[in-house]
Amino acid sequence: MNDSPTQPIEILLVEDSASDAKLTLKAFRETTRDRNVRIVADGVEAIAFLRRQGDYNECPRPQLILLDLNLPKKNGLEVLAEIKADPDLRSIPVIVLTTSEDERDIFTSYQLQANCYIRKPFHLQQLRNMVNLIDKFWLDLVKLPPTDIHLFTVESRSDIAD
Ligand SMILES: [Mg+2]
Repeated sequence: MNDSPTQPIEILLVEDSASDAKLTLKAFRETTRDRNVRIVADGVEAIAFLRRQGDYNECPRPQLILLDLNLPKKNGLEVLAEIKADPDLRSIPVIVLTTSEDERDIFTSYQLQANCYIRKPFHLQQLRNMVNLIDKFWLDLVKLPPTDIHLFTVESRSDIAD
């Protein structure tokens, strides 16, 4: 249902577990459509990637973020708070993907404007099913925000009254 089937969808996966990252990446590759999944392993790298700092200056803007909560250097809730406080980044949907079942984490994630919260499954087949569902819902059914956001900022729109 996406308008540009030839253009891969850019996904940022923020995950410090190399094995979880690998399995998630593999599961996305098993979906039939083009997805570019880029992986960063801690919260500081996630923010650097999103702000295109340092080595990330050529990286594309992700259209969807999968965010682990337990991360080194800067935890997922801090990353989420920074994303949603930043007018340039806050329109990117963030899926919190974590092993935590702590209701405080769930509540705080939504309070910080997470777009959804998913408990990371333990088993490979469940992980595949989860990725499939994410893919079908978030990357097929849902219309994601455009990537050329400078065209849509409030300042540049004449159809929004002062
Ligand atoms: Mg982790």
